[in-house]
Order: sequence, then C-alpha cells, then structure tokens
Amino acid sequence: MIEDIRNYTLAELEARFKAVGIQPYRARQVFEWLYKSGVEDFSLMSNIPRELREKLGEYFVIEAPKIEEIETSTDLTQKFLFRLKDGSFIESVSIPSKSRLTLCLSTQVGCRFACAFCASGSLGFKRNLEVSEILAQFIAMRKNVPQETVSNVVFMGVGEPLDNYENTLKSIRIMNSEFGIRLGIRKMTVSTSGLASAIERLSKEGLQVELSVSLHAATDEKRSSILPVNKRYPLKDLIKAVRAYIVATKRKVTFEYVLLGGYNTTVEDAENLSKLMRGLNARVNLIPYNISQSRLNFNQPTKLEVLFFKSYLTKKGIDVTLRMPRGSDIAAACGQLVAKRRNAAGSG
Ligand code: SF4
Repeated sequence: MIEDIRNYTLAELEARFKAVGIQPYRARQVFEWLYKSGVEDFSLMSNIPRELREKLGEYFVIEAPKIEEIETSTDLTQKFLFRLKDGSFIESVSIPSKSRLTLCLSTQVGCRFACAFCASGSLGFKRNLEVSEILAQFIAMRKNVPQETVSNVVFMGVGEPLDNYENTLKSIRIMNSEFGIRLGIRKMTVSTSGLASAIERLSKEGLQVELSVSLHAATDEKRSSILPVNKRYPLKDLIKAVRAYIVATKRKVTFEYVLLGGYNTTVEDAENLSKLMRGLNARVNLIPYNISQSRLNFNQPTKLEVLFFKSYLTKKGIDVTLRMPRGSDIAAACGQLVAKRRNAAGSG
C-alpha cells in the first residue's frame, strides 16, 4: 500500500525502508528533507541518488494539502483554510507576538464534543486527521508566515487532540525528533476539553508536553451545560487526572476559563473556581468572551466583571492571567472559517 511518508516516525520509517530494501540510514536523510527543508517532492531530495528517489515514489507519497484561503487580522494573526485530499476542510492559525510565533494545529475534521461556544462543535465529527495531515499544516504555514522561526505549537484547532490520541502523539514525537522539526517538547501544548482518561494516559508517556484544559465553569452542573464532555468526565475525575499529570510531568497545567458575561462571572463562580484550584500546580487563563465567536447567545463580559473575577482569584493566591482573544476580526476561533465555507457551499 502506498502511504504518505509523513505518517511514519523515524523508527517506523527505518523499519519500512529495511522491509523494502532501502538502507535504513537513508530515513534520516529523508526526514531532514521532509521536516527541516519542508520538501514535498522526492525529486528535490538532491543528496539521495536518483534511483532511490524513484523507488521512494513507488512506495510512498507526500500529500500537500491545498491552502484555500489565508485571512490576516489587523493584529497579524493569520488563519489558514486547508482542503484535504478527500475534499474536507480544516483550519490552522498562526499567532505572532513580540517574542514568539505560535502555530495552532487541527487534529480532526469536525469534532464530536459540541462545546457550546465553539463553531467546530456545530460541524459534527467526520474523521481523525492522519499524522501527515497534522504535520502538513505546520510545514505549509511555516513556508507562508513572515517570521522564520516557529517557537511554539498548540493543538487547539478543529477537533479534540486527545480524541485522536495516537496520531497527535506521533505528530508530537516527530516534531520533537532531532531529525524532524526539532521543536522542544515544552514548546508544544495539548489543549483538551477534559478527556480525563486520555490525560491519565498522557501522563504515562514520559513527555513533558504542556497541558491546557478548557474548564469554563467550576461546578458540574454549569460545566455540563456548556461542555457536554463533563457528563462523561465530571470535575472530580478531571481534577484527579490533572493532578496525576502534574505529578508525573512536574509541569504546571493551564486551565482556560472563558468569561461569559452574567453566566460564569459571579462571586460564587470565582469562589468555586478558587476552591477547585486549591493545592494544584496550575494557572488560570481568563479569556473574555468575544461575541463574534458565538453560535449561541452568550454575552461579552463587562470590564467590571473581568476585573472583579481576576482580582478575586489573585487575592485567593491563584496564578491567573488575562488573555485577550486574538484575530477577532478574522473569526480566528476554531472552526469558524470551515463553518463559513460549508455554509457558503450550502452543506452547513
Ligand atoms: S472546543 Fe475543542 S473539543 Fe470543544 S467542540 Fe470545539 S474543537 Fe471540539
């Protein structure tokens, strides 16, 4: 079977090369072409003999997704819409700041978790992305952004990364590989809606990848109403899994908390959140809800609500940061561009 060569880790590629009569050491050379140079054509791998390049083409392909659209925000955030080989759309975002360039990657076509304020939730689930499709987003964006060096990657685009566990992990390992992209493990963040069992599994991988959990409410009742995944993994299970992750990786975990005006911003909410964070090596990232990101009728919080909530947590000794949404003018929240394209095609 001809498969995309970017679906293989280095060890797997060495084994596959051996099986088809190619010297395994060639895998390192190919890896460097694929990931350091970003080459998407075997014929351009100039230090590999021509016969071998032809042989690679007999056993493997390199599928480059088509960039359908790039939108650039006034804050220079860029959103990429990709069309995959089966015609599906995914999107990825590049987020520059003074000191870093972060790429936000998708892991699935659609999503089955239906978080209330996420456009991807309205798309439904179609399929997992292959490893090659996850990595191809990185390669394509790296070629198209003005900055030379990508400093961080976050798995936070369309899809729940831990619901595509194997392929997300393989992508992380390839990006981290010294012959791959060579991105530091602590420069990668897995963002999850709270799949407790997968978090526990991740804690046993021996990787210090950053973990970010979408919390958004501090009681089961409230959280279940906006994140249906909470019915399967209630807060008790989620916090237990996060605790295990912190112990195993010795990393601080981030909890994302979108401030929904009048919904999760009361004194009671702040108190419940501070109790939940007690004893955890964690930070809370507050994100004021942006009304343009909605498919439901949530309200933007007032300045007073935001300041009150932050100062309440700070007084309780919680490590808290306030992050303003990026790329609001180009609908940079995950799934919005795909949803727009679907609606325009009349399939949405
Ligand atoms: S926030 Fe993440 S997990 Fe929730 S619906 Fe959107 S893509 Fe899926």
